[in-house]
Amino acid sequence: MGIHHGAILRILRDDGPQSRAELARRTALSPTALTHLTAQLLKDGSVTELSQNVGAGAAVGRPAISVALVPESQFVVGVHLGAGTIHATITDLKAAPKTMASLHFDTDSTEPKVVIGRVVKTVQGLIGKTGIARSRLLGLGLGVPGPVDTERRRNLQSINYDWKDVPFADELEAALGMPVVVEHNVSAMALAESRYGIGRDADALLYIYLRTGLGAGLVVHGMPFRPGGHGAVELGHIQVVEHGERCTCGSIGCLETFLSERALSRAAHIDKPHPKNLLAAVEHYPEVWDAAVRHLTTAIASATNLLNPDLIVFGGHLAEAPDSFVDAIRRNVPPRVLPPMRDALRFERSSLEAGAGAIGGAAAALDHLFYSGVPR
Ligand SMILES: [Zn+2]
Repeated sequence: MGIHHGAILRILRDDGPQSRAELARRTALSPTALTHLTAQLLKDGSVTELSQNVGAGAAVGRPAISVALVPESQFVVGVHLGAGTIHATITDLKAAPKTMASLHFDTDSTEPKVVIGRVVKTVQGLIGKTGIARSRLLGLGLGVPGPVDTERRRNLQSINYDWKDVPFADELEAALGMPVVVEHNVSAMALAESRYGIGRDADALLYIYLRTGLGAGLVVHGMPFRPGGHGAVELGHIQVVEHGERCTCGSIGCLETFLSERALSRAAHIDKPHPKNLLAAVEHYPEVWDAAVRHLTTAIASATNLLNPDLIVFGGHLAEAPDSFVDAIRRNVPPRVLPPMRDALRFERSSLEAGAGAIGGAAAALDHLFYSGVPR
């Protein structure tokens, strides 16, 4: 595999089967080079040839041959690590899940080693269940709750776990014997939504995820946005009130002091660790609801004025929120952003549902281990 293989595979992923002539034109490769590269991909099974009868104007009896991706030729493992949750999946080359597994656990006394052990067990269980040969598994993408290093191997920090610099890729590669890439979990979800979900036509997609905290991920022109190499967009730590509560990050009056599982559960007197339909329950408390809508509107308007996304995707509890919540955001944000942005801005719920986090991990693995074309 090389970078040109990656370019061919990305075109087939995004735009479906193509003739060799069209692939040569779009990759700016010579027909000879293109034929050589596709022969290699045909040999390893990543692509196949389709014979199609072309439409009017073509010579009778000469079917056009096009090259197509074979999504089920190889697979990746995707894992989402949240605060006290592990979601795992095995997907094909178009991030379609073949199987899923979830695990919930107590985060009060959780060492990285213990969590890594749980991830390994979950993944081994999934691989065993599907019976997919190890030779057809390209590797694993892990979404972690915090920023990662530029090499995508370590979780630099996680406020919820009180972790610093955990070498997940080294540990998981040693335990599972396959390549591992680590990505900020909400950035991974944004990537999945942009490549394989509702954001395929968006120029800039901002994914907003509400669970334990409120995180965001941004993908611009198909590229994850990584200021400083880290890429975590800390929307939850925008200050929305001057004299508010102290946040877990140490600052005062952050958005997360209003919009997090803990803040909303406490305000709406919910006593469960993993509440379903959290925002539907909050709707019965107009003050809490109004504050959530108001402060999230402020944060999204600020983010939009700065980053200019044309699509905002709601994930986690926001994906399951009542229509009245999504409608309120849809109504309140546009008047607070500049007119050209206002006209372009769309709001959608995540199209990847409960599997978004694990599919995000898979999307990161596919980007790094397959569609980059980097030798493996
Ligand atoms: Zn904060």
